[in-house]
Amino acid sequence: MTQAAAPAVAPATDRTRVRRAADRGRYDTDTLHSIVDAAYVCHIAFNDDTGTHCIPTACWREDDHLYIHGSNGSRMLKVAAAGTQVCVTITHIDGLVLARSAFNHSMNYRSAVIYGVFERVPNEHKAARLDAFMEKLAPGRSLEARPGDENELAATTMLRISLEEAACKIRTGGPHDDEGDLSREVWAGVLPMAVVAQTPIPDGPMNHLPDYVAKWAAA
Ligand SMILES: Cc1cc2nc3c(=O)[nH]c(=O)nc-3n(C[C@H](O)[C@H](O)[C@H](O)COP(=O)(O)OP(=O)(O)OC[C@H]3O[C@@H](n4cnc5c(N)ncnc54)[C@H](O)[C@@H]3O)c2cc1C
Repeated sequence: MTQAAAPAVAPATDRTRVRRAADRGRYDTDTLHSIVDAAYVCHIAFNDDTGTHCIPTACWREDDHLYIHGSNGSRMLKVAAAGTQVCVTITHIDGLVLARSAFNHSMNYRSAVIYGVFERVPNEHKAARLDAFMEKLAPGRSLEARPGDENELAATTMLRISLEEAACKIRTGGPHDDEGDLSREVWAGVLPMAVVAQTPIPDGPMNHLPDYVAKWAAA
């Protein structure tokens, strides 16, 4: 038995319609935003004349766009900036699902797949977008750290992609065992997993402790 409810809205396009375990598909904006906002990293898949690539990179969301940035020298950013079709994925693993049979083992997860093309963020908007990224990582830090200067911003490519064409898929709950396996003497259940904040490591003596550091390990 799967616990998933019917999707709140229809998929944006045929390629975002989840077919396999379709009841796990989600297409509503709140679900998509929560999966994107929980991510520090996405993977960008694209083709170029050397083949197909899937490259991990940091990301953040503002309104209905996912943003990425990096060196002007990045092949991935150059290809994406040229208007190449891409597929962006985000995955969170929430647990290992241990069933009574090897076949029925699974994972609990929240994932998103986003299709489309990136567009360049103009130079004059980069600083504000980077502040937003910094605020996501460490609220208040954009007021403390030295902002990027003209050269640093010029050396940075920033791109954004609309979240309009996207699918989410979520698995929750325990194993789905076959009836005949339920009486087997084998541990079954979920081993939950999460990305956990650990104790901050200062880079030399620090004379003040901002909130986002003090509260990091408790977050
Ligand atoms: C952590 C994790 C572990 C997984 N392990 C396995 C595994 O071991 N074996 C396995 O077969 N599958 C696994 N899956 C599910 C896998 O991602 C695919 O959903 C599944 O394999 C079906 O692929 P498909 O191309 O047939 O999907 P289809 O249902 O045909 O895909 C149609 C469309 O649905 C959307 N879609 C499909 N999968 C996802 C997804 N995960 N998230 C968001 N949108 C999606 C895409 O837009 C896709 O184009 C795992 C998923 C996660 C997140």
